[in-house]
Amino acid sequence: DDRLATPLRRAEDIDAALRPKSLDEFVGQAQLRANLRVFVQAAKSRGEALDHVLLHGPPGLGKTTLAQIVARELGVGFRATSGPVIARAGDLAALLTNLEPHDVLFIDEIHRLAPAVEEILYPAMEDRALDLMIGEGPSARSVRIDLPPFTLIGATTRSGLVTTPLRDRFGIPLRLQFYTVDELEQVVRRAGVLLGLDLGDDGAREIAGRARGTPRIAGRLLRRVRDFAGVAGNGHVDAKIADAALNRLEVDTLGLDAMDRRYLMMIADIYRGGPVGVETLAAGLSEARDTIEEVVEPYLIQAGLVARTARGRMLNPAAWKHLGVVPPATALQ
Ligand code: ADP
Repeated sequence: DDRLATPLRRAEDIDAALRPKSLDEFVGQAQLRANLRVFVQAAKSRGEALDHVLLHGPPGLGKTTLAQIVARELGVGFRATSGPVIARAGDLAALLTNLEPHDVLFIDEIHRLAPAVEEILYPAMEDRALDLMIGEGPSARSVRIDLPPFTLIGATTRSGLVTTPLRDRFGIPLRLQFYTVDELEQVVRRAGVLLGLDLGDDGAREIAGRARGTPRIAGRLLRRVRDFAGVAGNGHVDAKIADAALNRLEVDTLGLDAMDRRYLMMIADIYRGGPVGVETLAAGLSEARDTIEEVVEPYLIQAGLVARTARGRMLNPAAWKHLGVVPPATALQ
């Protein structure tokens, strides 16, 4: 295999190589990992399928990676799909009937399942059975097919959009948190080693501090900084090179990107700090409301820059300070 000899170049290859393969290799989420480890061991020692797991948290925090790790630690097969791609109930039935005993079926964006598809899941999760309608009209009848024991791992960025009957069928709901800078520094260093980079501690720290609490972003920034260091320097990544590269990418000192700043500036400039509704912001920014709520806001809220109130979004004092804008006297602080 020449991939062993040549450096990884394609983004997908790099992603696959960087993905942690075990719970031990997985950085951060300590509490969640400890719980998962107990549940996995218990299921294994009883010779049973692991209970269904619902992972929720913002994009890029490691939900897919964890699902793969769980399958690996259980020593079972892993099948992956995503809510929006399962068009018909029959598609999901086909997936379920093809599982081997104790397999993990991963459904990303599970809050986007079509209702008719979701209904197939209820008896599948609860009774390991599929209720299928055969035929149409007066001669139609329902048949019940038994399924092998399996583990459904659902992932969602919006737990509030998972219907109650679906949520209730997950025995193990787990919430992922944003990563600390220390944790992201470990992620960046590990990736640096795997990529064969000449990465200084200060360089790793700089990237980690500007990665929005998100390993996927840390990985992306590291790759861009690597390109920059190769072209503008001698390949060594220190804090100075990282800072120059990140500034060029318009990633600011808090790790906010251009979209984050447009969002904050819109509330500051046009709505005098808010409150302003998310629909209004989405329209003004020409962005999907889902993107604003799933990608942009969670980090800004956790960073203490924005508050979500009953009347709408409001800037916190830290946001005015970061933007370098003096709040108008009428700003509702
Ligand atoms: P999600 O499914 O939550 O969107 P992924 O599991 O696809 O996130 O992870 C995004 C990227 O971040 C992957 O390339 C993965 O390797 C990396 N990653 C996620 N969590 C970790 C972690 N704890 N340690 C190291 N890398 C991680």
